Amino acid sequence: MFRPSAIRRLAATAWRAAEGVAQWESAHAHGIEISKAQRIAERGFIDGRRLSEETGCEVLGKSEFQNPGGSVKDRAALYVVEAAERSGKLRPGGTVIEGTAGNTGIGLAHVCRSKGYNLVIYMPNTQSQGKIDLLRLLGAEVYPVPAVPFENPENYNHQAKRHAERTENAVWTDQFDNTANRQAHIETTGPEIWAQTGGKLDAFTCATGTGGTLAGVTSVLHSYITSGGQLKERTGSSITEGIGQGRITDNLKPDIEMVDGALHIADEKTIEMVYRCLDEEGLYLGASSCLNVVAAKEVAEKLGKGHTVVTVLCDGAYRYADRLFSRKWLQEKRLLDAIPERLQKYVVL
Ligand code: PMP
Repeated sequence: MFRPSAIRRLAATAWRAAEGVAQWESAHAHGIEISKAQRIAERGFIDGRRLSEETGCEVLGKSEFQNPGGSVKDRAALYVVEAAERSGKLRPGGTVIEGTAGNTGIGLAHVCRSKGYNLVIYMPNTQSQGKIDLLRLLGAEVYPVPAVPFENPENYNHQAKRHAERTENAVWTDQFDNTANRQAHIETTGPEIWAQTGGKLDAFTCATGTGGTLAGVTSVLHSYITSGGQLKERTGSSITEGIGQGRITDNLKPDIEMVDGALHIADEKTIEMVYRCLDEEGLYLGASSCLNVVAAKEVAEKLGKGHTVVTVLCDGAYRYADRLFSRKWLQEKRLLDAIPERLQKYVVL
């Protein structure tokens, strides 16, 4: 069902006009003023120092932002729904219910539309409005709820579970502990990376939300787990949406011992990389992708010249543009100074 997403060398990527148009149109659909979006897109081909040249390694990004729903989570979405169908818990005309920060919901929305299921989404109310709007456009019933820890019964996952329990022919797909999620990456992402690199790779870096991507790929490759946050606050909040986990999920359990190392990537470095990828690679990427790219660069530097490091470009910046390119938001997060002078011209919102 999935065409393998491309794998890109993060170096001297030629800017393609078609991508510019896609960004422009998507920004328009998300209510960003066209002239500003165009200004972001048009500046995407300015030369800079490129990561592969800089490290002397092959730094590769698996372009998951090109999936049908625009993120790495499309894979898990398809697998959890098909697992529910196989188990008999989900029958024709039924309802899929999930707790999600957004991308899984968008993947589920596409899968559910194509298979004729209803979709109910619970999400923390801290997520960007663009994701909520898109989910509703795609036909989902969305409940933004207060962002409380997993231990709290009002956490969005528990609310999703309870909703499924009181609904006929409904299934809570439970992306965090449903191992159909990691299975998607065992069967698709991992083997695709292996095939696309001809098995010539030394390391893989990946941040975790449910842990499905990291766990699935780790069962095939050597990996480093990555996390985010402010420089001075190594625990607590991060600007990066869709990642961050306070527990070992069932998806992670079987493979966590196989992970070779952990890296903490400061938000300052992540945001700088968002701007660098746009400027140097013509890639308009979300924060978790760029956190992964920083980690790939650090692992490449650690391994030394001549190695190949692969990472996941989880999604594009479209869903977060009103934050990542907004002066006010960057100031609020104390991240404006982390963007080098030469890249400040992209702070256009
Ligand atoms: N990046 C983004 C943008 C995401 O939405 C997610 C999942 N919420 C992840 C990374 C983490 O992926 P996984 O759930 O497979 O750990």
